[in-house]
Amino acid sequence: MNGPAHPGGATRTGVSDLPVVAMIGGGQLARMTHQAAIALGQTLRVLAADPAESASQVSPDVVIGSHTDLAALRLVADGATVLTFDHEHVPPEHLHALVAEGVNVQPPPEALVYAQDKLMMRRKLRELGAPVPDFAEVRGLQDVVDFAEANSWPVVIKAIRGGYDGRGVWMPKTEAEAEAIVADQLAHGVGLMVEQKVPLRRELSAMVARSPFGQGATWPVVESVQRDGVCAVVVAPAPKLSDELAARAEQLALRLAAELGVVGSMAVELFETAGPDGKPMILVNELAMRPHNTGHWTQNGAITSQFEQHLRAVLDYPLGDPSPIAPVTVMANILGGPQTPAMSMDERLHHLFGRLPEAKVHLYGKGERPGRKLGHINITGAISGSLDDAAYVADVRERAERAAHWLSHGEWSDGWDGK
Ligand code: ADP
Repeated sequence: MNGPAHPGGATRTGVSDLPVVAMIGGGQLARMTHQAAIALGQTLRVLAADPAESASQVSPDVVIGSHTDLAALRLVADGATVLTFDHEHVPPEHLHALVAEGVNVQPPPEALVYAQDKLMMRRKLRELGAPVPDFAEVRGLQDVVDFAEANSWPVVIKAIRGGYDGRGVWMPKTEAEAEAIVADQLAHGVGLMVEQKVPLRRELSAMVARSPFGQGATWPVVESVQRDGVCAVVVAPAPKLSDELAARAEQLALRLAAELGVVGSMAVELFETAGPDGKPMILVNELAMRPHNTGHWTQNGAITSQFEQHLRAVLDYPLGDPSPIAPVTVMANILGGPQTPAMSMDERLHHLFGRLPEAKVHLYGKGERPGRKLGHINITGAISGSLDDAAYVADVRERAERAAHWLSHGEWSDGWDGK
């Protein structure tokens, strides 16, 4: 059975009755979802902007086009069992149009909008009784000034739509700083909101998955270490998190998934801060309704990875066991160094594998640029260890970060010279 030729060059030659999942976006999340799809007998179909993107390189079923072009969306959805996402930037009106035409869009647009629009998300979360930082809509500078007077400087200004990895997040300390941001962004048509700058103890993430049938599954809550607004390291599970707070975060994430009608993997990004009684408490920062950087550890550290789980969920298969397989797993992002090392990536891999054979490498097929997410490393701790043993956790983390730094910088962070 031969299918239509695609503008991306691929011809569909499916020979099985297994489902076709189409994913909007050709980044690393789609690339790794394709990897999970292979094991399920599938080939992920991808809508990518460019044949060189991470997922375009690996899937033979690629439509080249824009996620803002309804015709391209229709083409990738044509004949697919389900349409899903590696980012949240598809215009909601296009998604509603596809649903009206009979396309199975998961997560559905009614749920996805709460991951697309930060102001709607904050309002909905508050309505659902989830703890969130104080916030307000910004129509002009006065809204920021009023909010800062009621709270205090600095405040956090956010683009309501389209931000990621900290782009679209500003933390002005004064009215003058806020004025420059607000004037510039509003002039460019960017909708803004303002929120309280939370005194963070650390950042956590609660990842869950939910199927249309209503089945839910939750991975343990993880700690996500951010550098310059970008996730650098994830420690799974989060050390020193009380059972009570962990259970509350997991239950909250499952409840939000159910109440919002989410389908697929979802990350609930959390802030851990001190409550009025000085005890740790959590606030919800944001929702991502797709596989997420804070779930990459599951590829090597859990029975079911977030990518497989996302496929199972959007296809309404029974969900997989999310249990961790080690007391701790650490993920470290390979973030492009200030300059591309003279040593080739191939040679860096040789050295890494020689020194840290336990490091699991996931590269995204991207060119090296400063700060760019090029891949990640997962290291699972020995089964005999304990999450309560700080030295054990620190050792696993050190190895993961050392491996990631080596691949991005071509230098060993512990000064080792290879002899
Ligand atoms: P993005 O969607 O671009 O990832 P986020 O809303 O997650 O943006 O913010 C990026 C980072 O900025 C967060 O991970 C956190 O470190 C910091 N941040 C965001 N909002 C707040 C806040 N209200 N208080 C303190 N830090 C914040």
